[in-house]
Amino acid sequence: MKRLFENSKVRSGLLLLLACLLLAHGAGCRAQGSASATGAAAERLRVVCTTQMVADLARNVGGDRVQVESLMGEGVDPHLYKASTRDVLKLFRADVILYSGLHLEGKMTEIFERLSQRRAVYAVTEAIPPERLRQLGPQQVDPHVWFDVELWSLAVEAVAEAFARHAPQHAAEFAARAGAYRAELARLDRWCEEQIATIHPGRRVLVTAHDAFFYFGDAYGLEVRAIQGISTDSEAGVRDIEDLVSFLVERRIKAVFVESSVSHRNVQALLEGCRARGHWLAIGGELYSDAMGPAGTPEGTYVGMVRHNVQTIVRALR
Ligand SMILES: [Zn+2]
Repeated sequence: MKRLFENSKVRSGLLLLLACLLLAHGAGCRAQGSASATGAAAERLRVVCTTQMVADLARNVGGDRVQVESLMGEGVDPHLYKASTRDVLKLFRADVILYSGLHLEGKMTEIFERLSQRRAVYAVTEAIPPERLRQLGPQQVDPHVWFDVELWSLAVEAVAEAFARHAPQHAAEFAARAGAYRAELARLDRWCEEQIATIHPGRRVLVTAHDAFFYFGDAYGLEVRAIQGISTDSEAGVRDIEDLVSFLVERRIKAVFVESSVSHRNVQALLEGCRARGHWLAIGGELYSDAMGPAGTPEGTYVGMVRHNVQTIVRALR
């Protein structure tokens, strides 16, 4: 109860700051708008993104015409992330704000709703047809769509359209870059399929800390099990761990995987549970689920992150 109170206090403080900034800046914005149509055409669009995956999308589509920043870095869990005062200032100064959506950034929903009244705010997953989303309940869908590469490639067009709306003079360039990037993602999609197909069919089982890999399993033919639910914002029960231990022992699964943005504690409990029942289970490696690797490394790009995950899974399960 106490935590809840503190959280809401912090949140309402940020929202108040946001409201003040929006009010103070209203007139300035309109003046700037007419200037950018004529004089400042050469300036780059300032794009602020939530996750690294969204930022990578923005860089691929925007090229030199955009200046991209992501609020969440390496190893950061978007389910639990709360915007800081600095973040709100960055969001406020952005020309275009991109977020993943489908309630992935669960603690930032209110801020985006407020910002969207005055700023250009887009959820990149809006481009994905609802019938292709995994429904979890009346108001809840699985937000981890980036692991079906073909599904994620639909978000590329949404970004190109958003950029074209705010820098129409570069629309053709955004469209060309989007087309080239979608072709690259189509190649990646086929490569994922080929790689997973090299694992023996009986061993195509992916067990992870939280339920981020449903779309991945669905697209490339792996059975997926997780200790925690869709969001990391919940405790895994002893019962969940026991059920999964039984599953691993009965199916004689060789390896389970840890995630870079999620605590390894629950996976450790699986290992101990299996060993107590005489089944030797290994950690197959670390997967990037809700955050990418460090900037400047192959895993610091979306394509590199997916390749790393597929190679890690294939190496451990084959
Ligand atoms: Zn997640």
